[in-house]
Amino acid sequence: MKDLVGPKQAEVTYETDAPVRYAVEGAIAWVSMNRPRFGNAQNSQMTYALDSAFRRAVDDDAVKVVVLKGEGKHFSAGHDIGTPGRDVNRSFERRQLWYDHVNKPAAEFLYAREQEVYLGMCRRWRELPKPTIAMVHGACIAGGVMLAWVCDLIVAAQDAYFQDPVVRMGIPGVEYFAHAFELPPRIAKEFLFLGERMTAERAHQYGMVNRIVQREVLEAETGSIANRIAEMPRLGLALTKQAINHVEDLRGKRTAMDAVFHMHHFAHAQNDLVSGNSLAGLDGKSMARSNKDEAGEA
Ligand code: ZN
Repeated sequence: MKDLVGPKQAEVTYETDAPVRYAVEGAIAWVSMNRPRFGNAQNSQMTYALDSAFRRAVDDDAVKVVVLKGEGKHFSAGHDIGTPGRDVNRSFERRQLWYDHVNKPAAEFLYAREQEVYLGMCRRWRELPKPTIAMVHGACIAGGVMLAWVCDLIVAAQDAYFQDPVVRMGIPGVEYFAHAFELPPRIAKEFLFLGERMTAERAHQYGMVNRIVQREVLEAETGSIANRIAEMPRLGLALTKQAINHVEDLRGKRTAMDAVFHMHHFAHAQNDLVSGNSLAGLDGKSMARSNKDEAGEA
């Protein structure tokens, strides 16, 4: 019999109490995703810790610029769809005005959860009133791409790559659907249809990445850019950020995202109806395996 209340799940085992590290150096807040054993896969624990870190950076008048980075080999492998710390069935103190998803039936479970932790959080972070820089190295996949996209600038190491392979799950891209704004529409279709890795260099050609630097100097270069931005007046930076974001929204970014979010959830619901699993039965391991097969790395 089909379970009407959320996905069944094994006991959650967190490998860390500090899924996000926070440090301030001069005028720069360094926010680091800290689940390196799992490629910084984003569970709710990390999502709420990220939100708290951003709140802290906003509240601290000494902080002018925020850098988001990942500990270990990768920026982020995406949303947590299979680590021991996967915590989709846990309630957290919510940051939007959505009601709790836990114990809601069928499609409502994921809809309420993703309104809060994916779409809601990403929009909230995009609107953070201080400049943000994503410092990307290694893998930046699906939910990881969302985190890079909400930042104002993206500085990438030469080894960085971007990928949104969720069409394999029958889903038209990740929740924060900025694909056709971050990339020209035809390239966005290719990015999604094929689900292949896009190198930092190719992303740079389309203006999705601001700078590509050698891995060894990634942190130094990002810090140097952040420090130069930090010399500008706080309000000037906040208003400039709002101005550009406003133009993007006038071009339809926000309304397009609202429309696609519902297609995304129609796809989750269809998966659930067909296979009893909103991700079409795919988890982190099987997604990684198909990625590797495609990349010829077996
Ligand atoms: Zn989703």
